[in-house]
Amino acid sequence: MNDCLFCRIVTGDIPAKVVYQDDETIAFDDINPQAPTHVLVIPRGHVASVEACGEDHGQMLGSILFACAKVARLKGLPERGYRIVTNTGPDAGQSVFHLHFHVLGGRQLGWPPG
Ligand code: 5GP
Ligand code: ZN
Repeated sequence: MNDCLFCRIVTGDIPAKVVYQDDETIAFDDINPQAPTHVLVIPRGHVASVEACGEDHGQMLGSILFACAKVARLKGLPERGYRIVTNTGPDAGQSVFHLHFHVLGGRQLGWPPG
């Protein structure tokens, strides 16, 4: 999708600091980090959110979760811990409508989230 910011990161039209990629996913640093490590993991194919996913997306969703864990290991997060978050819809504050999982770590994270 030409008008989707993250699709344009997938094609390379918009630059990003890529930290991991495979056939199905790309992971890159968030432009406005909320923690010392804040990486976004996205599918290469456009889907708006988990709400827009169906059974056909099961394998992709599994691959993304594994990619999140790989990113966490690459960033040295497992020893202290980390959080994986996907915001869905207005109450959650979703601002980019291409599915993405935030991988956050490197500081004590508050709970419950704001
Ligand atoms: P959401 O609010 O939808 O859960 O998360 C969207 C995330 O995308 C935000 O954390 C925001 O900082 C990040 N973001 C927005 N525009 C860009 C961009 O152009 N490049 C990168 N790397 N991250 C972006
Ligand atoms: Zn997209």
